[in-house]
Amino acid sequence: MSDTPNSPDTPAAANFVRDSVRADNEQGTFGGRVQTRFPPEPNGYLHIGHAKAICVDFGIAEDFSGVCKLRFDDTNPVTEETEYVDAIIDDVRWLGFEPGDVVYASDYFETLYTWAEHLITTGFAYVDDQDGDTISAQRGGYGKPGVESPHRDRPTAENLDLFRRMRAGEFADGSHVLRAKADMQHDNMQLRDPIMYRIRHEHHHRTGDDWVLYPTYDWAHGQSDAIEGVTHSICTLEFDSHRALYDWYLEHSPLPGDQPRQTEFARLELSYTVTSKRKLLQLINDGVVDGWDDPRLPTLRALRRRGYPATAIRAFCDFIGVAKTNSRHQIEMLEWFVRNELNRTALRRMAVLRPVKLVITNWPTGHSESITLQNNPENADDGSREVEFTGEVWIESDDFKAEAPPKYFRLTPGAEVRLRGAYYVKCTGYNTDADGNVTEVLATYDPETRGGSAPDGRKVKATIHWVSTAHAIDITAALYERLFAAEVPGERTGDPFDDLHPNSREIVQGKAEAALAEAAPGQVVQFERLGYFAHDHDQPALFHRTVGLKDEWANVQKRGK
Ligand code: ATP
Ligand code: MG
Repeated sequence: MSDTPNSPDTPAAANFVRDSVRADNEQGTFGGRVQTRFPPEPNGYLHIGHAKAICVDFGIAEDFSGVCKLRFDDTNPVTEETEYVDAIIDDVRWLGFEPGDVVYASDYFETLYTWAEHLITTGFAYVDDQDGDTISAQRGGYGKPGVESPHRDRPTAENLDLFRRMRAGEFADGSHVLRAKADMQHDNMQLRDPIMYRIRHEHHHRTGDDWVLYPTYDWAHGQSDAIEGVTHSICTLEFDSHRALYDWYLEHSPLPGDQPRQTEFARLELSYTVTSKRKLLQLINDGVVDGWDDPRLPTLRALRRRGYPATAIRAFCDFIGVAKTNSRHQIEMLEWFVRNELNRTALRRMAVLRPVKLVITNWPTGHSESITLQNNPENADDGSREVEFTGEVWIESDDFKAEAPPKYFRLTPGAEVRLRGAYYVKCTGYNTDADGNVTEVLATYDPETRGGSAPDGRKVKATIHWVSTAHAIDITAALYERLFAAEVPGERTGDPFDDLHPNSREIVQGKAEAALAEAAPGQVVQFERLGYFAHDHDQPALFHRTVGLKDEWANVQKRGK
């Protein structure tokens, strides 16, 4: 059996979340209804890790004819911005999912407030006006008993009065909090009277200055799920210890319907990169990369600009499956899916990234010929194009060596090669400048070899690509290395920034065949022999290297053996 990843059409990988939802359906839990949500905090752009969560949340809803809403968890006014909201909606759609609805936790601020008053009146919440450090210290720790706040038994009327005054803006930030009256001796620290509300005199991107009281993640999340009618609240493993609190809040709230259930799955991490919005933001702020869509980042913006097809990202997410243990996947595997897709869809073009001129000395002066080349040998429907061939063409400087090392089969004095789709040429010499740099490679062509084969059956060992100098257009290519040089950035020193690749981007000025001038913004083409390149969305002559042609995943697997 082959070790390369199976094609994206292979049967679905293990997905324990899907299995458990199916079991719920079979048992009639939630009346056979499936509703999920994808709940990003709008404090940055989505990255490849979020793509996995999106595939799980939207995928499960799709599998069971349910609904998945896109819900912004916008409970922290300080870090959230409308720019991020818009980008997230756009990225989810780009991945190919249409949200059942776009909703906001901030839509529920009023309901959440009412439910908090309900907890106060039923004796399950109280206002604490101790400072934050004292409250943390009193929480204790595992095996260390918690200390009850002196305000824990404040009378209900006083709690209500204080809470209403907190809302009215009478108190300063940090002076009062609302706490759940749960269990100060619980083994799970989350249940030691967690904070439900804090005071923050901050402008919110949607509610403006309506509120100075903001709910914590835990208080807002499960209640938002319940308000919307979510059945399966799927999140990542770090929320495992929050599940008991999630349930506690729901059990003590006046829910309109069924109590949703939280299920946790493993986060996606990739080799040679970081997937944390905080670290991504730091890379941008430190000027290591140009912005959220710098093609070296693992954000969906960046991957899209770099030419990663959304379908390849989804196929990768399906392939890795959904499990309960965190693991880091090899980036080469993701690249395999990208290459696999682009091989089928990308048109072939010729471009020379480090050009040197090849002069064919026996070519008739002023003569030009049209060579017909297939646009994509993998797909006959893509048809063919005409490429002009003349006696002066650009070739890769790499494809010529004045002194050839052993096993070098490309151009060197005396050697014959095939110019892709055109003729055999034999190198006769070269010219240099005063410093000895090669300025021109000289060759003769064999007129009998048009189309790339010799009637006498003689073979050549190399085929090289070319672009007629008279017909070439100028292009700029951005060649990317991995942003981090270490497989697990930060493993050595604790700081991923110590592992930054010293030269993760090289910009080269190249020459390309005229047809490339028609590439649409965002279109990905294969530069023959070089790799896949994505036309930039804005800059007309700029191409980003998406991925090379070689399957590195096979090598990674061999190394792993
Ligand atoms: P970050 O640490 O990058 O800020 P986050 O978890 O705070 O990520 P959110 O915007 O809160 O980001 O995440 C929205 C959803 O995406 C959550 O359900 C979260 O669990 C999920 N998610 C975030 N990162 C990953 C990841 N690396 N793999 C899988 N799911 C993820
Ligand atoms: Mg978060």
